[in-house]
Amino acid sequence: MALNGEVIVIGGGLAGSEAAWQLAERGFSVKLYEMRPEKQTGAHVSDRLGELVCSNSLGSKLADRASGVLQRELKLLRSLLMDIAEKTALPAGGALAVDREAFASKVTEVIETHPNIMLIREEVLAVPRDRPVIVASGPLTSDALTQDIISLTGQDRLYFYDAISPIVTAESIDMDIAFRANRYGRGDNEEGDYINCPMTREEYERFVEAVREAETIELRDFERDDPNFFEGCVPIEQLAARGDNTLAFGPMRPIGITDPRTGKRPYAVVQLRRDNLIGSLYNIVGFQTNIRWGQQREILRMIPGLENAEFVRMGMMHRNTFINAPTLLWSTMQFRQMSNVFFAGQITGVEGYMGNVATGLLAGLNMARQLRGEALWTPPQTTMLGALCHYVTHAEPKDFQPMKANFGILPPLATRIKSKRERYAAYSERALNDMKQAIEKLGDGYLQHITQADM
Ligand SMILES: Cc1cc2nc3c(=O)[nH]c(=O)nc-3n(C[C@H](O)[C@H](O)[C@H](O)COP(=O)(O)OP(=O)(O)OC[C@H]3O[C@@H](n4cnc5c(N)ncnc54)[C@H](O)[C@@H]3O)c2cc1C
Repeated sequence: MALNGEVIVIGGGLAGSEAAWQLAERGFSVKLYEMRPEKQTGAHVSDRLGELVCSNSLGSKLADRASGVLQRELKLLRSLLMDIAEKTALPAGGALAVDREAFASKVTEVIETHPNIMLIREEVLAVPRDRPVIVASGPLTSDALTQDIISLTGQDRLYFYDAISPIVTAESIDMDIAFRANRYGRGDNEEGDYINCPMTREEYERFVEAVREAETIELRDFERDDPNFFEGCVPIEQLAARGDNTLAFGPMRPIGITDPRTGKRPYAVVQLRRDNLIGSLYNIVGFQTNIRWGQQREILRMIPGLENAEFVRMGMMHRNTFINAPTLLWSTMQFRQMSNVFFAGQITGVEGYMGNVATGLLAGLNMARQLRGEALWTPPQTTMLGALCHYVTHAEPKDFQPMKANFGILPPLATRIKSKRERYAAYSERALNDMKQAIEKLGDGYLQHITQADM
C-alpha cells in the first residue's frame, strides 16, 4: 500500500491504539509510542496495548442507554476496539463486558502485525512540534511529558483532580422531598440554585453509620505517595470517621436553609448543584468519595430525595491528567494553537473507556482528513460522540471536569416525551440516524456504505 505520510501517536492505550489503526487503515504510516513495560503508569499491570485499568465493563450495550448508543456509533464508524470488544465479550446481562486479557492481547496483536504501524516501546519526553502527532497518553501521562504539555499549552498546570463528587440526573431527583433554595436565600435566582435534600437526625445518623462502614477502593501506591492527594477535598468517609457531626458541620451543614414543608431547619442537608448549562445534571456538593461503587450507590440512595437517583458519574479518586479542553481544543480534537497536533482519550476530559476509544477514532480520522487536505469532521451534536466532543470543548473552563457519555449532554428532542424509556429510545434513534447520515455525507472511503444491519 502506498503510504500517505507519517504520523506519531503517543500512548498505546484505548485512544492511541484506535487512532493508530484508523490512520493505518487509511494508508498512513504510524509510529505508535508506548512507554510500557519500560516505564509503568502505576495503574497498568501489563505491557499490552489497550489494557483496561479497572473494570472490565465497557458499559451497557442496550440501545436505550447512553453507552449502548456510543457503542453503536462506534460500530458505524468501524472501530477496531469495538470490534475486538464484541469478539472477546463475556456473558454479562445487558453490559458489554470483556475478557480483559483476551481483549488487550488481541488489540496488541492487531496493532503489532499491521504493516503500516511501527510500535516503539519508548517514553516520549516531549510532543514533537514539527510533525503530525496525536497525544493519547491518558490520565497517567508520564511526568516528563506532562511538563512538556504544560509548556505546549501555555497553561501553568494541567488539571489534576484527586477526588470527585457523584453526578445524578435532574429528573431522577424526587422533588416531592427535595426542594430548591440557596443558603439564606442568597443569589439572584429567587427559586434557588441548589436542590436540597433534607435529613432528620435519625436519617443523618443512619447515613453516617453507613458511610463509616462502607468499603473504600484501595489506593494504589502511586496515589498514596502523591503529596497533593487530599488537598482541598477530603472525602466524606474521612469526614465521617473524624466525628459524629463532622459532616453536619461540613458539606451537610443546614445553616441558612429552611425546609418549606416543615418551615424548619433540617438536621442536615445534602446540596446538589447544577452541573451543565441545560440543568439536566446535578453534582452532589462536597461529596467526593472513594467508597466502592456498588455500596456508594446504595448509600447515596439513603439520602431523602435520591432514593431513585440515576448516577452518570460516581464519586472517585485517582490521579488524573487532563487539559483544559474548552480553551485548548476544537470539537474535532485538534489543538487550537497548532494544527498538526490532536489530542485524544482521557487527556481531553472525556471520561470512560468507550468515550476514550471514540475520541481516538475521531482524532485518527480527522488527522487523516487534515493530511489529505480535506475539511475536518465534527460529528453531529445529536450523536453521543458529537455531544461528548461538544461538551468537553464548550464547558465552563473555570471548573472544567471530565464527562462521560450520558443523555443529559444531548440537545433536547423536538417534542417532549414524558416516559423516560421512550425518551431515551428517541434519543438513541435520532443519534444513530444522524450518525449514519453524517457518515454518508463524509465520503470517507474506509467507512463502507452503512446498511440497516449495522443498527
Ligand atoms: C485508576 C483508574 C481507573 C479507571 N477505571 C475506569 C473504569 O473502571 N471504567 C472506565 O470506563 N474508565 C476508567 N478509567 C478512566 C479511563 O477510561 C481509562 O483510564 C482509560 O484507559 C483511558 O484511556 P486513554 O486511552 O486515554 O489512556 P490509557 O488507556 O491510559 O492509555 C495511555 C497510554 O499512554 C502511555 N503513556 C503515558 N505517558 C507516555 C509517554 N510519555 N510516552 C509513551 N507512552 C506513554 C501509557 O502507558 C498508556 O498505555 C480509569 C482511570 C484510572 C486512572
